[in-house]
Amino acid sequence: MPDVTRRDFCAGTLAAALSGAAVTRSAAERRGRIPVRMFWTWDHSTNWCENVYGAQNVGVGNAYTKPGRFFEEDYRRVVDWCASHDMQAVGIVGLLRDRHGGVESVRRLCGYANDRGVRIYIIGGLFAYGGAYYEGSSKWSLDRFLEDNKDCMARRADGGYHYARFLSHGGTKNEPQGCPSSKKLKDFVIESYDWLFKAVPELGGIQMEAGDNGVCQCATCKERRGKRAASEYMSLEDMAGIYPAIAGVVRSRSKDAMIICETYHHFLDKACGIFYEDPPGKDARVLFDMPKDIFWQWKCDARLDQGTWPDGAALPPEMAKAHNVMRSHAGTQWWGGRDAFDVDKIRRQCRSSFLSGLDAVSMFGEVSPFNTNAEFNYLALRYFADSPLAPMDGFVRDVMAPLLGGEALAAEWVGMARLDHDPEKIPTASARIARIAADVKDAEARRRWTHLAHRLDSFRWEWERNGRKLPVYSHHPEPLLPKGGVSRPDHL
Ligand SMILES: [Zn+2]
Repeated sequence: MPDVTRRDFCAGTLAAALSGAAVTRSAAERRGRIPVRMFWTWDHSTNWCENVYGAQNVGVGNAYTKPGRFFEEDYRRVVDWCASHDMQAVGIVGLLRDRHGGVESVRRLCGYANDRGVRIYIIGGLFAYGGAYYEGSSKWSLDRFLEDNKDCMARRADGGYHYARFLSHGGTKNEPQGCPSSKKLKDFVIESYDWLFKAVPELGGIQMEAGDNGVCQCATCKERRGKRAASEYMSLEDMAGIYPAIAGVVRSRSKDAMIICETYHHFLDKACGIFYEDPPGKDARVLFDMPKDIFWQWKCDARLDQGTWPDGAALPPEMAKAHNVMRSHAGTQWWGGRDAFDVDKIRRQCRSSFLSGLDAVSMFGEVSPFNTNAEFNYLALRYFADSPLAPMDGFVRDVMAPLLGGEALAAEWVGMARLDHDPEKIPTASARIARIAADVKDAEARRRWTHLAHRLDSFRWEWERNGRKLPVYSHHPEPLLPKGGVSRPDHL
């Protein structure tokens, strides 16, 4: 029974990470660390093999443009990293596509991960994001189902069908959205995830998403949600209507699947006020009654940037009884720049998560650690999850120094790594790096330095050719408003 052995081993690693039973602030403090760490990825822009044609560096809902075999090649390297750096799980949007092998390739990849104590989980839309089978001829493709069952589609305010277009974020898909009030659709969604966890018994879990591309404006949905969701691009009421059923069907197929419920919010956001009401409202009660072995997932980028996450701010008490994961977009095309040095933000993410009693942290893992800033970002997640109150200096001394030729040089890296925002200083930095690289004996340390010089010079080069202004596309795609569809809000 090799599959059972692998699954039990994988379940054991998560259980070990979470040992200590109840997840409360005091329990997290007693342990002194954040036990669970995860990567979040899109399949089409995860590039851990270098120099592959068709690689993409941005996008939501893109086509997969590399040769299909690189889906497994890339993610095996991600898994290897996780296995050797105390990370427990990798989430993938676009997990199932005909283009990169469908069910068979996912089964092989999940088996590979399970063998190494790492779990692959699907980041799966329920009323959006393609559903259980992201793209292809499968009957479990949500896109196909909605095209064949227009009565289940979400509506815009003008009564037209609601498609999400991701042009403003580098995406290519024109994606139909489902109406959360449709029983026919809900039955299909539940059945599709039941099928998935049966067809891929090696699958390690699910991050479920109701959808955050605007809410359905049909009369039934508007009446069901009442006033609350009018200004939101997502709906907590819609989540309450489907999350418990999906969690139930996943658990019935897999006793140890990691079940993550996306909230699209920080728990201090205004929209989450319903989670603090006493007594709770109907929808909050439904979510609170979900099993306590699930994870609630939150996001924190804006609050870290604005300093609006006070130390020790409390999770909603009922949700603190389950597991809680905080994700950020540190060092990505979505926030700060892909492959940007973002270690201090990750430090603050871990510190604040720990002080608020969360027991899991997640970051984007699309960029290969060949890109040294990404390597440091990934290493920072582990370091500050292990030691959430450690200062930046500790990471520089303990982690960066051995990789760069010494502590003094590592401190210089910190001073130069973000000069992509300050290109006038890059020529001096580039000359300094050339001298460092000439003196460093270790070949891998030298490679890291020359990579930094090349990266910085690329920003200086573009800046000079762009009227000495920083080109906006280096950090975040420019917003575009496509005609005839609904643009994804610029809310990441
Ligand atoms: Zn509707």
